[in-house]
Amino acid sequence: MAISEISKNALTVLEKRYLGKDGEGNLTETVEGMFRRVSDTIAAADAKYDNTTDTKALSDQFFELMTDLRFLPNSPTLMNAGRVLGQLSACFVLPVEDSMEGIFDSVKNAALIHKSGGGTGFSFSRLRQSGSAVRSTGGVASGPISFMKVFNAATEAVKQGGTRRGANMGVLRIDHPDILDFINCKADNKEITNFNISVGITEAFMEAVESQSDYDLIDPKTKQAVGHLSAEKVFDLVVDHAWKNGEPGIIFLDRLNRDNVTPTQGEIESTNPCGEQPLLPYESCNLGSINLVKMLRKTLTGYEFDFRLLGETVEQAVHFLDNVIDANNYPLDKIAETTRASRKIGLGVMGWADALLMLGIPYNSDEAVELAERVMGYINTAGHAASSKLAAKRGTFPLFSVSTLKDGAAMRNATVTTIAPTGTLSIIGGCSSGVEPVFAYAFIRNIMDGTEMIEVNPVLTEKLKELGLYSDRLLRRIASEGTIAHCEEIPQEVRDVFVCSHDIKPIDHIKMQAAFQRHTDNAVSKTVNFPKEATRNEVREAYLLAYKEGCKGVTIYRDGSREEQVLNIGKVN
Ligand code: UDP
Repeated sequence: MAISEISKNALTVLEKRYLGKDGEGNLTETVEGMFRRVSDTIAAADAKYDNTTDTKALSDQFFELMTDLRFLPNSPTLMNAGRVLGQLSACFVLPVEDSMEGIFDSVKNAALIHKSGGGTGFSFSRLRQSGSAVRSTGGVASGPISFMKVFNAATEAVKQGGTRRGANMGVLRIDHPDILDFINCKADNKEITNFNISVGITEAFMEAVESQSDYDLIDPKTKQAVGHLSAEKVFDLVVDHAWKNGEPGIIFLDRLNRDNVTPTQGEIESTNPCGEQPLLPYESCNLGSINLVKMLRKTLTGYEFDFRLLGETVEQAVHFLDNVIDANNYPLDKIAETTRASRKIGLGVMGWADALLMLGIPYNSDEAVELAERVMGYINTAGHAASSKLAAKRGTFPLFSVSTLKDGAAMRNATVTTIAPTGTLSIIGGCSSGVEPVFAYAFIRNIMDGTEMIEVNPVLTEKLKELGLYSDRLLRRIASEGTIAHCEEIPQEVRDVFVCSHDIKPIDHIKMQAAFQRHTDNAVSKTVNFPKEATRNEVREAYLLAYKEGCKGVTIYRDGSREEQVLNIGKVN
C-alpha cells in the first residue's frame, strides 16, 4: 500500500487505537499489517460456503479495496478482526424489561458490548413510570430516568477498554408518563453524559400537534391512558431543549416500523447511538462506508462519477460485510442468534461533501440533491442486487420467508444500506465525514509540544494552489472564520461552491438528509447545524420539515449551545 496516501492524522489515530501493541505499548503491527489482518480474516469466512474459493485471492481483493481507501468497514472490524476479541460490529440494540432482573441483565450486556467497542441503543419505554407501585416490595418505582443513570454510570466505568468511548442511545416514547422528565434529563449537560437521547414520536402525536389537541399518556404495564398533555406544548418543549443544547433528538417510530422487514420478530423501539441503525432487540449490525472521493474520475474539464467503479465497489463491499457476520465473535449467544437470523448490513458513504467540491457543485443546491438521489439510488440498487446474488449462492437470510421481502427477489441480508457518521473512518480515509457538509475549511490544531498546525481541507488546498492564492495569511484567516464566505480575494463562484455547515440553511441540510434517506434501507446520520442566533421557531420549522420530507429522525445543533462542543470554529485541540 502507498502509505503516503495515509495522512498524518490518520496515522496518529491508527497508531493510538487500531494497530497491535505489545504489553509495553510498543507497536507490533504496521498499517499494512492491520489491513492484511482484516482482509485475511474476512476472506476466510468464504470457506464456509465454498471450499473451492481462493481465499488468498479474495483477501488480496479486500486488501486493495481498503488500502485504496475506496471502502472501510466500521472501526470494531478494523480493530478486532483476527484478534482475540473478534467483535466486529458497531451497533447493537438491547431490550430493557420492566423487572430488576431485566434491567440489570441489560446493564451487564451493555458493559460486555462496550468492552468490545460496540455502541448500544435502548428503549426505556417498557419501564413503569415513577411513582407507580412495585408489588414485591410495596414500594414505588423510581422510573426510567433513574435507571438510565445506572446505565450511564456502568458505561463510565467500562469506557470500552480504552479504545472507544462508551456510546448509548436512550429512547422514550412520547406517550410514556415520564416523558417530561425525559425531555429535561440532559438539560444541565452534566448528567447522563454517555447517552444521546431521542424522543420516540408517533404519528398519532404528530397529528395531535397539527390539530392542536391533547394526546394520551399510556401506562406501559396496563396499556391504559393515565393522563393527557397538550401535544403542541410537549412538542415545543422538545424544540426548546434541542434549541438550548441539541438534546433530545427525535425519531419517528412508526416510520422505523413501516420499514421493519421482520415484524414477526417484534417492534423496533430504538436505534444505535448515532441514530442511523434501527434494530430489533438483540440485533447487531456491522457498517461499512464507500469513500465517494475515490469514485470520481478525471475528465478533460474536471471530475465525474465513475459508476462502473462504484458498482464494482458496492458488490465487493456487500460481499465483505456479509462475511463479517460469519467472522464475527458476538458478545452474547442471543445476539449471535438474532443477528444471524436477519443478517442486516449497513453499507453507506463518506466524502460526499468533498466529492461535491471536486465536482464544483454547491452542497446547498438542487443539483446536489438530485445527484445525491442518483448516487445513493445507484448504491442502493447495486447493493440489493449484490445481496440477491449472494443469496443465490449462500441462501437467503433465515427469516426471509416470513419477512416483508418474501415476494420479491431473494435476499441474503434483511437490510443493506445505512449512512453512518464515519467519525473515525473519515479521518482514516482523509475525506469529509458521511454525508455532512464540511464543518470548517481550516482548523488550528494544537500539537502536544505547544506548536500550532493549520489543517486545511485537501480539496480547498488544491483549489487555492490552482488559483495562486495559497498563503499562510489566507489560511489563518479561514481558520479563524471557519468559512471562506467573506474572503473577497477568492472568486465568488469558488466561494459559492466551498460552503461550510454554517453557510448552509437548516432547510438545505434536511433536504440532503431526505434525499439520502429515500435510497437507504436503514437511516441517515446527520446533524442539522443552526447558527447561534437561530430562533426556537426555526428549529420547530426544521423538525416539521424533516417529518414532511420523510426523514426517520432529526438531530440538531445550534452553534455554541453546549459549553464544550467537539468542534469549535477557530480552534481545535
Ligand atoms: N460508536 C460507538 N462509540 C464511538 C463511536 C461510534 O459505539 O465512540 C458506534 C455507534 O453505534 C455509532 C457507530 O459506531 O452509531 C458508527 O459510528 P462512526 O461511523 O462514527 O464510527 P467509525 O467506524 O467511523 O469509527
